[in-house]
Amino acid sequence: MKKPEKLTLATRNSHKVQEIKEILSSLALLTESAPENLPEIIEDGSTFLENAKKKAIEISQMIPGLVMSDDSGLEVDYLDGKPGVYSARFAGHNSTDAENINKLLYLMENVKWEERTSKFTCVIALAQEGTVIQTFEGTCEGFILSEPRGTSGFGYDPVFYYPPYKQSFGEISASRKNLVSHRNAALILLEQFLSSFLS
Ligand code: IMP
Repeated sequence: MKKPEKLTLATRNSHKVQEIKEILSSLALLTESAPENLPEIIEDGSTFLENAKKKAIEISQMIPGLVMSDDSGLEVDYLDGKPGVYSARFAGHNSTDAENINKLLYLMENVKWEERTSKFTCVIALAQEGTVIQTFEGTCEGFILSEPRGTSGFGYDPVFYYPPYKQSFGEISASRKNLVSHRNAALILLEQFLSSFLS
């Protein structure tokens, strides 16, 4: 296999692209987002790992070099790990963040604080020419609040309370969140792997 010089990010989310590029900036690797004209990959796996691998495999069959994909979401213990892979569409297809949060809060009504434990998980898959090279997982643990707090971030951030900060992710800046986020944890593992893989 030829030594790769390029890493394609299988995401069109500009916030993610920016964060990934910053964390991988010290590597001798051209990092770019996937071309607009690629077909949409259907995320129909039952785990973050399955979805991340599927995206990385299929996209790396279409473009040369390394490809990385990620899948992430929120898992709530009281709900047996839901919304999990359905995080983005918990309240139905095309549901908004507010609708997903409302459904979550409704299901968690009157649940005691100790039982409101949850975690964000991010799985990254790295592939080349249709083969997965390695996968990486990062998590971030917290509690589900009974009502939203703050307006920063996206998704479930306003209802995710992070104990070390004594604040919700909706109340903190993106840069403080990035220091401890599940995505950052997975990206650091990817960065460590790539720095030895490329040398
Ligand atoms: P994806 O990895 O972009 O497909 O994320 C799936 C869904 O998980 C998002 O639409 C959010 O609802 C949720 N999610 C993932 N990461 C975060 C986060 O850092 N904060 C809040 N919600 C998140």
